[in-house]
Amino acid sequence: MCLNTPVRAVVQTGDRVHVTAGLGQTYTARTVVMAVPVNVWRTIRFLPGLPEVHATATRQGVGVPNVSKLWLHVHGLEDDVVVNGAEGDPFAAMVSQGRLDDDGQLLFAINALPELDVWDRPAIEAALRKVLPEATLVDVRAHDWGNDPGSRGAWALRRPGQLTAQLPRIQDPFGRLVFATSDIASGWIGFVEGAFESGVRAAEQATAIATSAKALTH
Ligand SMILES: Cc1cc2nc3c(=O)[nH]c(=O)nc-3n(C[C@H](O)[C@H](O)[C@H](O)COP(=O)(O)OP(=O)(O)OC[C@H]3O[C@@H](n4cnc5c(N)ncnc54)[C@H](O)[C@@H]3O)c2cc1C
Repeated sequence: MCLNTPVRAVVQTGDRVHVTAGLGQTYTARTVVMAVPVNVWRTIRFLPGLPEVHATATRQGVGVPNVSKLWLHVHGLEDDVVVNGAEGDPFAAMVSQGRLDDDGQLLFAINALPELDVWDRPAIEAALRKVLPEATLVDVRAHDWGNDPGSRGAWALRRPGQLTAQLPRIQDPFGRLVFATSDIASGWIGFVEGAFESGVRAAEQATAIATSAKALTH
């Protein structure tokens, strides 16, 4: 399988799974681990579809939709800072990441307000002034996780009702397909530990399917 090749379709036929990626290359295997975020499942064509619990989860979303991460190079701060924004503030968090000799310091920040355009430098400068009036912006880089086609959201955060509606069925294989993502973890959902947990489970499920003569059926 190639890197940087988005999966477009996953088709289960008898004892094989066919995965179409990129510009149409197809790969065939006895079992497949879907290790993409739940919010991405809705962009992939699954045949014969997904179980209802998986389909509902991806339709509702699990990864929080409006999060951007920013790196800000600033001048003018005497000390390191840790900012916890209030609800509705432009930056939910802002933390010093280190000094750059005589060239100020780097901060990382999390924005969860969709109305703040993280590529609009004057808007970022205004938001920074609101939180840290003594800081001046030298440079900024940002990543909009909600609009990244490989994630379509940031870390996972189940909405009310999703935990009891989804677990444990969302962790089950579907035919020869198994699912690995922190978004479906029992513990530490939304953290890398949750990804490890689901990865271990998916590896065990895939091994069982690949070594059994008959695919599991649901
Ligand atoms: C801004 C931010 C800060 C975070 N901070 C922390 C932290 O401090 N500590 C912590 O524990 N966790 C943190 N997290 C959460 C953590 O990053 C995730 O929980 C973890 O990465 C989830 O792992 P995963 O394997 O489930 O999914 P991912 O790491 O999202 O991996 C999914 C992979 O699937 C690929 N993919 C997507 N679509 C397709 C497709 N169609 N075809 C092929 N490949 C595809 C993606 O490119 C990606 O490589 C943070 C997340 C964000 C967004």
